[in-house]
Amino acid sequence: MQTLKNSQIMDNEIKELMIPEEKVAHVQLNNPLDHALLVLIKSGYTAIPVLDKDYKVCGQISKAQILDSILGIERIEMERLHEIKVKDVMSEKIPRMNKDETFGKALTLSINHPFVCIEDDMGSFIGILTRRSILALINRYLRK
Ligand code: AMP
Repeated sequence: MQTLKNSQIMDNEIKELMIPEEKVAHVQLNNPLDHALLVLIKSGYTAIPVLDKDYKVCGQISKAQILDSILGIERIEMERLHEIKVKDVMSEKIPRMNKDETFGKALTLSINHPFVCIEDDMGSFIGILTRRSILALINRYLRK
C-alpha cells in the first residue's frame, strides 16, 4: 500500500473531483422554506448550498434547520413554512475553496463538513466537493 505522506495526491487539483454546479441541488436566499424543504426531500440530501441571484455562495441549509425553525411549543407549525425565508434560517459559515486550491485543503475541510463549495476567481459558485469523492480518491490511491 502507498502512504499518503509526501505523496502527490495532496497536491492534486480539485476540479476533476468536483460535482459541477448544474448537477448540484440548491436554493436561493429569498426562497420560502416550503420550497427549500421540497428541494431537500426530492433530492434526498440533508443539506444543500444557498446561492444569491448572481450565483455567489451565501451559505447552506439543512432539513434539521428548517424543522427547528417551525418547532412550536406543542407542535410543528407547518403553516409557517411559507412565511419564513431561506436567508432567515441558513448557516452563513460554510467551507469554501477556490477551484485552484489543492486536494490537501479539501481533505482537511471534509473532516468536519460533508461537502465544500467551490468558487471561481470571481467568487461564483461552480460546484461542490463531497466527502464521498474525497474518500473515493484516497481509497483508489491507497489500493494502487
Ligand atoms: P456524499 O459525500 O455523497 O454523501 O455527499 C455529502 C453531502 O454533500 C450530502 O449529504 C449533501 O448535503 C451534499 N451533496 C452531495 N451531492 C449533492 C448534489 N448533487 N446536490 C446538492 N448537494 C449534494
